[in-house]
Amino acid sequence: MANNCLSLVVHGGAGAKRGRDYSREIAHMRGVVEAGRDRLLAGALALDVAEATTAALEASGLYVAGRGASPNTVGQYELDACLMDGFTGRAGSVAALQGFESPVAVARAIMDWTPHVMLAGDGAARFAASQKLAAIANDAAWFTHAGQDESNHPPGTLSHGTVGCVVRDREGRLAAATSTGGVFGKLPGRVGDSPLIGAGAWADDTVAVSCTGQGEYFIRVAAAVQLAHRMKFGGETLAQAADAVLAEIRALGGEGGLIAVDADGNVAMPFVSAGMKRAALLPDGQIVSEAF
Ligand code: ASP
Repeated sequence: MANNCLSLVVHGGAGAKRGRDYSREIAHMRGVVEAGRDRLLAGALALDVAEATTAALEASGLYVAGRGASPNTVGQYELDACLMDGFTGRAGSVAALQGFESPVAVARAIMDWTPHVMLAGDGAARFAASQKLAAIANDAAWFTHAGQDESNHPPGTLSHGTVGCVVRDREGRLAAATSTGGVFGKLPGRVGDSPLIGAGAWADDTVAVSCTGQGEYFIRVAAAVQLAHRMKFGGETLAQAADAVLAEIRALGGEGGLIAVDADGNVAMPFVSAGMKRAALLPDGQIVSEAF
């Protein structure tokens, strides 16, 4: 495989339900992958493309992240996101954020402008305001509640949706980002895997990973970093490591999926759920976009 190949994969969540038409999401994901490819061709860094692509998914209102989020049990919109640069090992993360348009932009600012990796709740919002990041009215009128019509979401069932992106740029740098509104009907203060470095996302010099699914299970198996370490220290291929992590999730009774790209540009996008909205720029330049 050519060393200068570009790879980019996005997901729009593993909460896809059979029988529903996802043609809008499939077309949208193809568009964001094309835009990401063009940035990569122009020489953009993997981290910048992972952030911009995730921000486009958040802004669309089509997925359970950013504008598409749904409220918790007391009517608040608490959003989570993170990103990690496999080239430098730096990471930024935000949890239970209220009142800002792009959680992944807040995570990036935390990475760039604080000595910390993660801020949560009021502190995160205060920091985002200090950075003059785009604020929103934290109420139902702004959010689109994507996916709420896909089925009913009884409390305790951990129905879910999320967005994420993994990238390999021209120089072989890897990066990952994940952003979510979390599970439907979550308790106030609930934080899933998505903003947790090592659970919902990971990037190093071997692989970049972004997860989606019932976060409680992904946290318990440290899904994203487990995949990386299976490759790095266990000698598994990307496909073997991805399948092994999802087998553990399934054995615990959970569901979900992940997207990943390795240092050679190989991509994986397996899931153990009814479906997973996803799109990829493959190393041969082809773009695929699908939900099941
Ligand atoms: N993993 C996310 C969470 O548990 C939800 C999802 O990916 O659909 O918050």
